[in-house]
Amino acid sequence: MLNILKSLYLHLLILINCAIPSNIAVSAERSFTARNGHALFETEHLVPSLSFNISQYLVDKANLKVVALTFDDGPDPQNDTTILKILADNHLHATFFFIGKKLIGKQALITQLMANGNEIANHSYYHPMMTDISAAVQDSNIQMTNSLLYEAGVAPHWFRPPYGDFDQTTVSIAKQHGLDTVLWTIDSQDWKNTKAEIIIDRVISRIHSGAIILFHSTKPETVKALPHIIATLKHDGYSFVTMSEWRSELKKLPKPSIE
Ligand SMILES: [Zn+2]
Repeated sequence: MLNILKSLYLHLLILINCAIPSNIAVSAERSFTARNGHALFETEHLVPSLSFNISQYLVDKANLKVVALTFDDGPDPQNDTTILKILADNHLHATFFFIGKKLIGKQALITQLMANGNEIANHSYYHPMMTDISAAVQDSNIQMTNSLLYEAGVAPHWFRPPYGDFDQTTVSIAKQHGLDTVLWTIDSQDWKNTKAEIIIDRVISRIHSGAIILFHSTKPETVKALPHIIATLKHDGYSFVTMSEWRSELKKLPKPSIE
């Protein structure tokens, strides 16, 4: 009943938003994705809301040989269960950015993911371009998903805007809900429905220390590519971290001295 009421509330907000002229809702600082219709393979603006930037730290292979695997757009009971097994078989964990409207009825999967040390985070309620919607609808997207995650026993720390599309309003709203906004440094572009071999090549050819790799739970070819990607990175000496572990690792690094 509560979820039905929440859903009605959100749809009311969406209706209200539709009545607002679009030039009020759209920010002048639209993301690369919004301006260009596609995402970058790599971005420097990966954590816009943190008080530090990755470029402030001395990151090289010697001092941060970690990668964060991240999976967007779930929960996807079939693929996420397989991904969970692949991660567990390799004794490693990852971060899952879940869409609020898909969360109903996924408690067993969520519990199992957390029991295996995975991190679960917020990927909006219905996956809009955040800069296309009003601040009120941005807020409800983040707040409703947070509520559902808390009800499921998850305390989320991160928000990833759909399509990597955000502006300062998005970042501020996420922060009000206790979330840091994070993008990625390597986009597998698995959303283009490419074959596993291509996904593997895209990721491995771009791998770097401290990488945050974007995958999508909804893509079966990603599931196929994952064991090879993990094996290659393990062989190359990388360890695998959740987003919160990634932040802790980054904070341990020395800062460059100012000349
Ligand atoms: Zn997404």
